[in-house]
Amino acid sequence: MPLARIARARHWVFDLDGTLTVAVHDFDAIRTELGLPAGRPILESLAELPPEESAPLAVRLDAIELEIAREARPAEGAADLLAELLRAGVDLGIATRNSLANAHETLRAAGLDGFFAPDSIVGRDEAPPKPRPDAIHRLLDGWRGATEAAVMVGDYLFDLEAGRGAGAATVYVDPSGRFPFGHLADLRVRSLAELAERVRLDFPDPLR
Ligand SMILES: [Mg+2]
Repeated sequence: MPLARIARARHWVFDLDGTLTVAVHDFDAIRTELGLPAGRPILESLAELPPEESAPLAVRLDAIELEIAREARPAEGAADLLAELLRAGVDLGIATRNSLANAHETLRAAGLDGFFAPDSIVGRDEAPPKPRPDAIHRLLDGWRGATEAAVMVGDYLFDLEAGRGAGAATVYVDPSGRFPFGHLADLRVRSLAELAERVRLDFPDPLR
């Protein structure tokens, strides 16, 4: 039963932007600014370019995302959920397609930086990015954790694909309630506050 598995999970991996923070990235605008094709993920488009073309764009992307990071605000219920999970003694990690430096800045700006050990944040340069499952595996290796006891929480297709690819349970957060990638989710919630509520109400033991 997916909810039972999620409630008993000992290793929680979160997407960062739009999951732990309020979504603000306008990826179409970023693509336009970088001159990258519409409708394709940015990192993959960059990876296809020759290094002399991709390198300055990667620098520009870091700068754009740093500006966004500095304005980051926590998602509804993020601090409460993370505090509750920490009290329950579970491992907390982040798998992000952002850079590690920008991830730290985002967490700091959003007031969530106290919840994650430095080596529990995996950015796009530390492992092949989602939808690849590598970042999740890397975190689990560090924790000596089993995929059966892992959950991936995210707001986008790539988070859910990475979670499924790693063999973790998947939680899909979509404040709009539309859940366009819902077929890849074991649990769908509109907010992290709702996630905490669902897990706590149905299976109170681990989260007390
Ligand atoms: Mg996201």
